Amino acid sequence: MSTGVFANGEALDPAEAQFTIVAHRGASGYLPEHSLESTTLAFAQEPDFIEQDVVITKDDIPVVLHDIHLETVSNVEQVFPQRHREDNRYYVRDFTLAELRTLRLHERADGEGKQVFKKRYSGAKANFTIATLYEHFELISELNREFNKRVGVYPEVKSPAFHLNEGVDASKIVIDALMSYDFGGENGNSFLQCFDFEEVKRIREELKYSGKVVMLIGENSWAESSTDYDWLRTKEGMEAVAQYADGIGPWLGHLLDPAALKKGEIKSASWLDNAHANQLAIHPYTYRQDALPEGMTGPQLLQILRDVIKANGVFTDHVPPVHEWRHQRDGMGK
Ligand code: CA
Repeated sequence: MSTGVFANGEALDPAEAQFTIVAHRGASGYLPEHSLESTTLAFAQEPDFIEQDVVITKDDIPVVLHDIHLETVSNVEQVFPQRHREDNRYYVRDFTLAELRTLRLHERADGEGKQVFKKRYSGAKANFTIATLYEHFELISELNREFNKRVGVYPEVKSPAFHLNEGVDASKIVIDALMSYDFGGENGNSFLQCFDFEEVKRIREELKYSGKVVMLIGENSWAESSTDYDWLRTKEGMEAVAQYADGIGPWLGHLLDPAALKKGEIKSASWLDNAHANQLAIHPYTYRQDALPEGMTGPQLLQILRDVIKANGVFTDHVPPVHEWRHQRDGMGK
């Protein structure tokens, strides 16, 4: 299903193509992730794409949130203390959009309520709220028109099997939104991403989606889906992925050859040869200026992604340092 061309219309040869910058959860390094403010700031930072994670409300509306649960990024436990399930978690799916709009978003917190990234937005007065996928798409569309830009969207269908079990087809809802804003389809400036390989197949075969699709690859222990990510990274796995997807979104931790790394050498993990052999675009996650791999500077990491891994871009919480690196490396910011 590989198109041979990136969304920005450049050739697939990584040596010639621009290194794609994806604003991960908006400008999440600076403002609470997935708020419209975070998306607006991301737009101003001039990424190639802005990412939206999507979950579905009780009234079947797609909202932009990273998790099917609410408590790590909102004050749900104060506003609706009784509304958790037996596992003590608060599910987006159990709330209507009207109810979700009464919540305040805050910087991501851990299970004990402590901010995960200490140096990020720490205020509590500004009222960041949950927004729908349509609101995010409209915002980016309008800003594109007003500033004559072509920033694309990069939505992720979160936990599709969970949603199907809840009686709602999250992928169809996301595709409908993509198509209604001209971001979708073969010529749309977007990538649709998912961690669930069965769902990626369904997106092509059942939902007949023709736009660009990226298969995300994690660790089996994260339990993101029933997909066997170890198998996905084999020769057969990559060949299977290439039948349905245009690219892969691998985790940084899977990119380097572990044996070489032990000897202090930086070498691409061998499974990536299978991704390249199948012409899959490679967009690893996540460049975080405040959580770089140990002993590595930002430019070193980006250099490795580009020149050793031959990645075609990166998801980043921090667009400006990646832009600066791209600009310096290419001279004219190309
Ligand atoms: Ca995501």
